Amino acid sequence: MDAAPATERVNLLGLPRPGLEQFVAQLGSKPFRARQLMGWIYKRGVGDFTAMTDLARSFRDRLGEQAEVRPPQIVRVQRSTDGTTKWLLQADASQAFEMVFIPEPDRGTLCISSQVGCVLDCSFCSTAQQGFNRNLTAAEIVGQVWLAARELEREAGPAQRPAGDERHVTNVVLMGMGEPLANFRNVVPALNILTDDFGFDLSRRRVTLSTSGLVPQIYKLAEESNVALAVSLHAPDDELRNQLVPINRKHPIAELLSACWHYLDEQNGRSVTFEYVMLDGVNDSPAQARALARLLKGHPAKVNLIPFNPFPGTVYRRSSAEAIQAFRDELLRRGVLATVRRTRGDDIDAACGQLAGRVTDRTTVRLGSKVISVAVQP
Ligand code: SAH
Repeated sequence: MDAAPATERVNLLGLPRPGLEQFVAQLGSKPFRARQLMGWIYKRGVGDFTAMTDLARSFRDRLGEQAEVRPPQIVRVQRSTDGTTKWLLQADASQAFEMVFIPEPDRGTLCISSQVGCVLDCSFCSTAQQGFNRNLTAAEIVGQVWLAARELEREAGPAQRPAGDERHVTNVVLMGMGEPLANFRNVVPALNILTDDFGFDLSRRRVTLSTSGLVPQIYKLAEESNVALAVSLHAPDDELRNQLVPINRKHPIAELLSACWHYLDEQNGRSVTFEYVMLDGVNDSPAQARALARLLKGHPAKVNLIPFNPFPGTVYRRSSAEAIQAFRDELLRRGVLATVRRTRGDDIDAACGQLAGRVTDRTTVRLGSKVISVAVQP
């Protein structure tokens, strides 16, 4: 058989176990070889079939002809003074997306993208201003985690991992560019690979999908996945949420909350995290905190207050530290669990809502032998 051109090879990073078993069977091998293959790819971070020495040579040859392990290509890497790292990754000739690694003493969180751009038009988010280009494939979603794990390992070296800051991926959050539930078809297989024992083997509590509130897809997700759910609420009433998160006009707060409680029931989940961006003078008053507490009190909910991260051209300002604290205390006093998200990586525009910000120009970048066009910061 002739070797298939590289573009037609099956990228194994996009195949959950059942699909991989089928593929392996098509190549004439036993389905259990799929697990061995996953061991190499996900546990050892090996993408080169010739190095997979416990697989038969003939099988390795066939894999080499018909398959590949291809993560997205890195266009640029930026490091924040706080240890956060942001990678710009190539989607197509002229399009790029981002992922961010956030080290903390007890965990290493990788924030990945699900789409290039976003169709939703949340007024406080810079990704929204970029418009929508396309869905990422399952292989591109899983490929981000695979790539980050390898890059972090390579950077630190097994012997010299800095003490104090966790430099491997222990948690994955789908909180980068895009709306994951608008790319359901590719996101769900990717989640399966992240949580599969033979894949990345991340516990369901260490993988969080964040949504702006696509209600029908939350019900669908309850049938197909069990990862932790985060919801971008941002307002305690429909009138304000209609302005901030326009999808609310289609799926108002009451419907959204019912979908959340249904998700927890179905998945036996602990709680839903509600993200709430703190916008000065817009949604940060004590009365609004009380309204939010009335919505959530008695339910398995946590509120994560996100200090607004500004970007050029925005009309919003970040709430003061005092206002944020007062808002949190108001929630706590009413029995609603609330935390304030620490801002990380804002010096490299890697903080929440800043991904793909400052896209004002396109330029060409040399990438290996190829020249591509990417969005750059001025
Ligand atoms: N589309 C999904 C995934 C994006 S998650 C969602 O909406 O949940 C990114 C999180 O950062 C969301 O909660 C989003 O509302 C929040 N965010 C967006 N822009 C922000 C900004 N400028 N400052 C702080 N948080 C922001």
